[in-house]
Amino acid sequence: MFEGTNAIDFGKQFKTNEDCYRYLIKIKWGNRYQCSRCGCKESYKGRTYYYSTCSSCGYDESAAANTIFHGIKMPILKAFYMFFRLSTKKKGMSTIELCTEVGVKQKTAWLFKRKVQAAMKKDGNDKLNGNVEVDETLIGGYSTDKGRSTKTKDPLFIAVEILADGRTGNIALQQIENFKADELKYAIKDNISEEAQIKTDAFHSYKKIAKGMENISIEYSNKGSAMEQLHKQIM
Ligand SMILES: [Zn+2]
Repeated sequence: MFEGTNAIDFGKQFKTNEDCYRYLIKIKWGNRYQCSRCGCKESYKGRTYYYSTCSSCGYDESAAANTIFHGIKMPILKAFYMFFRLSTKKKGMSTIELCTEVGVKQKTAWLFKRKVQAAMKKDGNDKLNGNVEVDETLIGGYSTDKGRSTKTKDPLFIAVEILADGRTGNIALQQIENFKADELKYAIKDNISEEAQIKTDAFHSYKKIAKGMENISIEYSNKGSAMEQLHKQIM
């Protein structure tokens, strides 16, 4: 959507909510309207300028329906801007940066970032499966801070498939914002199949996640003696 677009281009192209909806209308129905419920190709004006009502089944569809802008709790211009920032900034953006830049609540920014990340993933065929071990670590930035400070380092989610013969299969890595249960839960859902058997350590966030996910088992390890393959990969 925003490939090759810089901030000045963006500002010229999208000044109002209407600019954003017009953009979606062009992409969605530009060539030919088609009802996403019944496939009918005839429509009349919907409840507002960015809705079209199907002549056959009467479904009044928003140009934002079936897009990541559907059901957002903020003006669409803000969502467009966030999507622009998230998809064009190479190193990624934290929701703290985003919410300050755009002027929304952090929770709103976080939820939208989640939607963007999920939409930018492939169709799920590349998710890890079988026996999967999960952990989290920090990378980069020298720090003399004790413990796990995320001030100078980036939190990283890591998941490793353990094959029947004990060797390592596919590996998934994802930059995350923090080690909170919500963040780790979505990293798990985005990277690992629902059929997989997941093993984690007894970190409190996983204990929280495991309450709602039956395929997670907690390994009470003795200073990293468990999940040996996973820890080798982290090293
Ligand atoms: Zn229809």
